[in-house]
Amino acid sequence: MLPFIRPDLADFSAYKPHPGSDTTQLPVPNQKLDRLDTNESPYDLPPELKQKLACTYQQRIETNRYPDGAHQELKDAIAQYVNSSVNLLSSQFKAENISIGNGSDELIRSLLIASCLGGEGSILIAQPTFSMYAILAKTLGIPVVEVNRNEENFEIDLQAAQTAIEKTKPIPIKTVFVVHPNSPTANPLNAAELRWLKGLPENILVVVDEAYFEFSQNSLVNELIEKPNWVILRTFSKAFRLAAMRVGYCIAHPELITVLEKIRLPYNLPSFSIASALIAIQNKDILLASIPQTLVERDNLILALSVHPMLKVWKSSANFVYLQLEKNLINSHQNLLTFITQELKESGTLIRKLNKGLRITIGTPEENTCTISRLRTVLANLKSEP
Ligand SMILES: *Cc1c(COP(=O)(O)O)cnc(C)c1O
Repeated sequence: MLPFIRPDLADFSAYKPHPGSDTTQLPVPNQKLDRLDTNESPYDLPPELKQKLACTYQQRIETNRYPDGAHQELKDAIAQYVNSSVNLLSSQFKAENISIGNGSDELIRSLLIASCLGGEGSILIAQPTFSMYAILAKTLGIPVVEVNRNEENFEIDLQAAQTAIEKTKPIPIKTVFVVHPNSPTANPLNAAELRWLKGLPENILVVVDEAYFEFSQNSLVNELIEKPNWVILRTFSKAFRLAAMRVGYCIAHPELITVLEKIRLPYNLPSFSIASALIAIQNKDILLASIPQTLVERDNLILALSVHPMLKVWKSSANFVYLQLEKNLINSHQNLLTFITQELKESGTLIRKLNKGLRITIGTPEENTCTISRLRTVLANLKSEP
C-alpha cells in the first residue's frame, strides 16, 4: 500500500459494475447475455428521441464550452415533473427544491458530506439494501451502523433501529437511508416503518431513495412539505432509460439544497446528459408508456416462479423480483446460489446474486420467457447433481 494512502481504504473493495458481465470465460466466448442484473429498463431510447438528441448535439451543444453549471432549465423541468407525479400544484416544488447529481450516487455522497463527514455522524441502514450507501460512507471514513430486516416481509427491525439511534456512540447516527421500494427485496415502506421514520427527531436526516418510483407509483414527496430533515432521491437511470447518461436528482428543503449545491463540483453534469434528461422529461409519456407492460411481465414472472417447489418468491413493487431457495435447500446455500447464477449466465441470463437470495430484473417479454425456462432447467439439473 502506498504510504500516503489512508489505511482504512485498504480494507474494502470497490463497487463491481455489472459483476459477472465478463463473457470471455463462457463456453461460448462473448455470447450475448440478457442483462437482468442491474434493474435498468430493457428498452433503449426510441429512435426518434435519439434523433432529437443527436440534433441537439449537432446544433446546440458547443463542445468547447463548459456545460450549464446552474442546471436551471433542467431543475425547472424536474420540479414540474415532481409536482405532476404526485398531483401537487405546479407552484409547490420549484427549482430551489432540486439538486441534480451525476447519478443519484453523487447526491448520496453529497448528503454524506453535508451531514456526517469529519466525525459528525454515522449512518443507519437496514440490510439487505442498496450497497452504495455503505460503500460511499466508508470511503469518507463515516461509520455505518447496520440493522436487520424481518426474514418474512423484510420490514426493518425497528426496535434495533431505535436502539441504534439512541445508543450509538461516540459518533451518533445523523442520517438514515431507506429505499422505497427497497432493493433488492422490492418491498415498499410499510405503515410501521413510516411511523418510525416520521417520529425521528429533526436533527436526523432521513433519505428516502425513490429510484423505482415510476414503477411503484408510491411516493413520499408530500412528506417533504412538513419535514425539513427529509430528502427524496430519484434517478433517470431506471424508468427513464438513461442509465448511460448519469443523471439523478433530489428534492428537499431549499436550505439543504443550498448546501448540496455548495458541495457538488461546478460542472458535474455534461451538456449531453443535461440535454438527454430534458428530452426524457419532455417525452415522458412516450418513455413511461412501457411501464404497465413491465408490471404485467413482472407479475407473470412471479407467478411462474412461485409454483416451483425449490423457490420462494416475494411480491414486488418495482421492476425486479427477489427470490430465495426454499429452506430445505439451505445447507450449502451460498454454493447453490453461486451455482445457479453461473449456470444461468452460461445459458444466457445475467442476474444478481446476493447473500441470501437472487434478484432478477424484468426484461423484455422474450427475455422474461427465457428467464423462466432457463431457471427451470438449471434447477432441474441441480436436483440430479450428487
Ligand atoms: C439504481 C439505483 C439508483 C440509481 O443510481 P444512479 O446513480 O442514479 O444511476 C439509486 N438508488 C437505488 C436504490 C438504485 O437501485
